[in-house]
This record gives sequence, C-alpha cells and structure tokens, in this order.
Amino acid sequence: MPRIRRALTELQYVGNFGPPAADFPTARFFSSSKLDYVAMNDPASPPSLVPRLLGSEDPPPFTVVNPDGQFPLVLVCDHASNAVPAALKQLGLGLGELTRHIAWDIGAAGVTRRLAARLDAPAVLCGYSRLVIDCNRPPGDPTSIAELSDGTFVPGNRALDDAAVEARVNEVFWPYHQAITQMLAQHWRHGHGRAPALIAIHSFTPTMNGFRRPWHLGVLWNRDSRLAGPLLGRFRVDPELCVGDNEPYSGREVGFTMDTHGGAAGLPHVEVEIRQDLLIDEAGRERWAAILGGVLAAVLRDETLYEVKHY
Ligand SMILES: [Zn+2]
Repeated sequence: MPRIRRALTELQYVGNFGPPAADFPTARFFSSSKLDYVAMNDPASPPSLVPRLLGSEDPPPFTVVNPDGQFPLVLVCDHASNAVPAALKQLGLGLGELTRHIAWDIGAAGVTRRLAARLDAPAVLCGYSRLVIDCNRPPGDPTSIAELSDGTFVPGNRALDDAAVEARVNEVFWPYHQAITQMLAQHWRHGHGRAPALIAIHSFTPTMNGFRRPWHLGVLWNRDSRLAGPLLGRFRVDPELCVGDNEPYSGREVGFTMDTHGGAAGLPHVEVEIRQDLLIDEAGRERWAAILGGVLAAVLRDETLYEVKHY
C-alpha cells in the first residue's frame, strides 16, 4: 500500500502545475504512468520493475516553473539540483562533495527561474543531482551514472546492477524528459502555428584539469544555428564579455537534451553555459539573468524562428 499512496501524492503534485482535467494531456499521461506504478507493485511482477528509488519524503523528479507562460519558449535546466534520493545515502559522498560542481550546475537553477519570469516562459528543472543520473546523457553512456567525476570517486555509483540503474532511469530520467516533451507539446499545440523554441541553461566550473577557462559564457549548438548565431553576434558586441562558441563544451559532442527535444523535432534550440564563479550569489544570478534575458528577448523577437526546420 505505501506505493499506491505515493502514486496518489505524485498525481496531486502533477495536478498542481497545470490546468486540471481532461483537456490536459500531461495529467492524463502521468495518470497512466502512475497506474503502471501501481500495477508494478503487484508482488507477481519481476523485482527489477518495482519502483524502489524515490520515497515519499524525496523531492519530485522535476519542477515546472511558470507552466502557463505565454512566450513560445520552453527553458530547461538539466543540472538544476544536487538532491540525492534518501535511499542512495548521499551516494557515499560528504556534503562538501555534493555541493561541488560535480553534483550540479551551481547557480543555473536561479538563472533559469529568473529567465522564466522575465520572458514569461515555462521552465522545467530536474529534481536530482547529475550524479544520480545525468539527464543530459543517453542512458547507457558511461557518463550517464558517473563512477568518477573530476577526480572524485562516487561510491554509490560503483558496480550497480541493472535494477539499480533502471530505477534511476525510470524514476528520474524519464519523468524529467517526459515533462519537457509535455511542455513543448502544450506550447506547440496552443502556439497559433508557432513551433516553440527550446533553451537549456547550464553553468560550468571556472577551472577544469588545471585549465582556467576564460569564457564568461558559452553558446553551445550542433547543427541548428538559428538561435546560436544571433546570440553569439549580440554577445560579441560587448567588448567586456568573453564568449565561447561551442566552449567550454561542444554542442556537437554533448547535448542529449537539445538533440532529442530540439534537433530531432526541428525546433530552434540552443544551450547556454555561464561560468559558475559569476553565479555564486543572488546578485550574480540576477545580473546574469538580466544580461541573458535582455539578449534573448531581442533575439527571440524574430518571428521566422518559430518554424520546424531540420538541419
Ligand atoms: Zn550542466
């Protein structure tokens, strides 16, 4: 019975972020999903299918901010949180490690929430640490559940069996990505013919492997330059800003969320990375939300962006 009670709790959670009832596919989808959960609680089910990771005291796998935002844009933050389900016992790490950049993108959630308000767009934030499962990697990739991150071994990620891995995929990774799909679909359907844009907000550590990264922010893209091109152009007008084009990472190598929800669907998309030392306090997050929000608002005024194009 505890599992059934949890399913009802999560339905209430889902019901809190959107219009209730029949014309809201998100609610229907999650209802169906949670019925599966209940069904899987059947003792006859194989043990590996029984949900066992998230407890009633754990945070939800995602949060949607400003779900009714009117702008044809969905913001996402893959690495918003450093939370770890209680059952994973901090992955065997100290709190010091869990507050480092290896666990999350420091400051990114604060910038994302502010952008959602500034641009009147919904934002989907992942609820768990990238060390639980990295939602910007395909499941199965060696970096999906990292055993080693920037010199730190993660004891709770060692030698996991398939059931442990699948629990993280099914209870964290997919709910988050399904929420992104649902928000994009909702905006697409109600967008008066405009295909929504998708923007991911990340932050990066100032020093990696002894290299001091000079960029204040980076614009990451793969094949679709519709947003990246104008963003880079506008940022480069400011001589004070050091802007990376596919730095400190390349959108051609890392970009599961962008490629899956943006590229594959033909939606205009881009990933923005901001250096973490610029986001360590409220003033910094406010400042960078203002800088980024101003440039994004100008770029997103171009009505020709909002159409499906494949590259
Ligand atoms: Zn990130």
